[in-house]
Amino acid sequence: MKYISTRGATAHKAFSEVLLMGLAPDGGLMLPEHYPHVSEQTLEAWRGLSYQELAFEVMSLFITDIPADDLRDIINRTYTEEVFGSREITPVRTLSDGIKIQALSNGPTLAFKDMAMQFLGNAFEYVLAKEGKTLNILGATSGDTGSAAEYALRGKKGIHVFMLSPEGKMSAFQRAQMYSLQDENIHNIAVLGMFDDCQDIVKAVQSDASFKEKYQIGTVNSINWGRIVAQVVYYFAGYFNVTTDNSQKVSFCVPSGNFGNVCAGHIARQMGLPIHRLIVATNENDVLDEFFKTGEYRPRSTADTYVTSSPSMDISKASNFERFIFDLMERDAVQIEALWAEVGIGKGFDLSLQLGKIRNQYGFVSGKSLHQDRLATIAEVYRADGELLDPHTADGVKVAREVREAGETIVCLETALAAKFEEAIREAVGEVAVARPSGLAGLEALPQRVQTVPNNAEVVKSIIRETLHK
Ligand SMILES: *Cc1c(COP(=O)(O)O)cnc(C)c1O
Repeated sequence: MKYISTRGATAHKAFSEVLLMGLAPDGGLMLPEHYPHVSEQTLEAWRGLSYQELAFEVMSLFITDIPADDLRDIINRTYTEEVFGSREITPVRTLSDGIKIQALSNGPTLAFKDMAMQFLGNAFEYVLAKEGKTLNILGATSGDTGSAAEYALRGKKGIHVFMLSPEGKMSAFQRAQMYSLQDENIHNIAVLGMFDDCQDIVKAVQSDASFKEKYQIGTVNSINWGRIVAQVVYYFAGYFNVTTDNSQKVSFCVPSGNFGNVCAGHIARQMGLPIHRLIVATNENDVLDEFFKTGEYRPRSTADTYVTSSPSMDISKASNFERFIFDLMERDAVQIEALWAEVGIGKGFDLSLQLGKIRNQYGFVSGKSLHQDRLATIAEVYRADGELLDPHTADGVKVAREVREAGETIVCLETALAAKFEEAIREAVGEVAVARPSGLAGLEALPQRVQTVPNNAEVVKSIIRETLHK
């Protein structure tokens, strides 16, 4: 399997190369040159496989340059009961109103990003060792992505992580989660500034080509193909969990921001998994809902992005969206180049003529959920089922209920656990004990390892230099 760029001007690449890439050199995103098709017989054969076996079957269709035994080993080391809390890895439960919830958030940082990031950590280590290379990840985080990356890369050979976070702007839980890591290859850097300042520092360092080259600076952002491919697996697992034979169709509802999670669902559907609809749920930042309702894509600036109580979806430029539009436009890279030229000058684009195809051929629908909807959903589910949903999952459940057709099975992806967002939970249901997985009790009291720096890219560069010259 080779990979191509959505902008069409990058030479075909193998998985191991794509794994370590951010954007393609032509500014596009990498995708497999075609989606492998899974026949009815193969689907039947996959039903009943363990999560690890299923992950191997799905991922080996996309990853053909790592020997099968090595890939199997990477997968078996990644998806363990020890790391994900259950033998099933992504167990499904049913709410009293019939909506199914697939748990993707039982990994070390209690958010679905662990599903992909844990794989990425092991895959990076494998590929780097094989090629005798090292990699230094520089990232900026406002919470979830940074901690998922640190927990995936801690202790990995050949890798250092330099993670910038805005000083004092994350919750005590989020800070403790990251800063309590004592691994020597994890470097927490708190910047006296906002999240945007952290991002600007990352961009400044990245744009110093000689520094970037000399210190092998890389990223692990949501456009990484290795993350998407790992996410395709749980759509298959969820489907098999709620069906008894392959004539049945299932819809998935996905709380969305950067379109990475639901993009994996789109790929599973293109492979032949019997997915009826892909339901995109947004919060107040409704760029994607607007697109799936009107065909107009109007990304907004950071200044026009709301800060909400489902913060991991506070995104107004969906970085993986280009992958779906590439498929929608029959993989015509020239059109993609033209559409994103419009995005680049702040205009966006209008594909309302494609709405029929988006809905009927690709199965996309959408909805949005606001602060009050989110709180009401958390409170209702708590009353009816005695369980606490996290705010992002609540956005999904709200939208799933709204769009559900008679007889439709909807699996709503649980993207985080309530324990991460105690404040929103209290606002929804009052004083309750929000259960924390064992091992995380007392997290905030652990010693922390973080250095605070001024909002200055040169200072960050010198930290990287000094660390790597030790
Ligand atoms: C990242 C994240 C999302 C959004 O996922 P995308 O792949 O960016 O669409 C939703 N919920 C939670 C809790 C997240 O951490």
